[in-house]
Parts: sequence; structure tokens; C-alpha cells
Amino acid sequence: MKENETKEVQEAVIEKAQDIFTSMKEKLSDVECPTHGKALLLLEQDKVRGGVKIETCCPEGEKLVAKAIENL
Ligand SMILES: [Zn+2]
Repeated sequence: MKENETKEVQEAVIEKAQDIFTSMKEKLSDVECPTHGKALLLLEQDKVRGGVKIETCCPEGEKLVAKAIENL
């Protein structure tokens, strides 16, 4: 029984993390680089190492995305 409970909690946490990730991705997709337009090129969860993989158009775009993350 205890194992089942733990699994349910884990699934709930994973689901919540997925929700947060999805809304974060939506917000960061609106970040505009003055030179290239859309600054965020790639944002995906790194399932192997954990955390996220992120690619931006240029260092300036990266700064804008980092700032947007701070203000989320
Ligand atoms: Zn750029």
C-alpha cells in the first residue's frame, strides 16, 4: 500500500512540473530579440540528466530570455 501512495505522489509531482514547464515555455516564446525576432529557439526537458535544454538565437536573446525567467 505504501508503495502505491508514494507512486501517486510522484506522478502528481511530475504532472505539476509538466504544467509549470508548459506555461513557462509559452511565456518565454513571447520573448523578442531586436535582431532576430523570436529569441527562444528551443526549450525542452532533458529527461536523461534532468533540468532543461535551452537554445536562444544569440547572446542578446539569451539575456532577454534569462531576464524573462527572472520575472516569471
Ligand atoms: Zn538574437
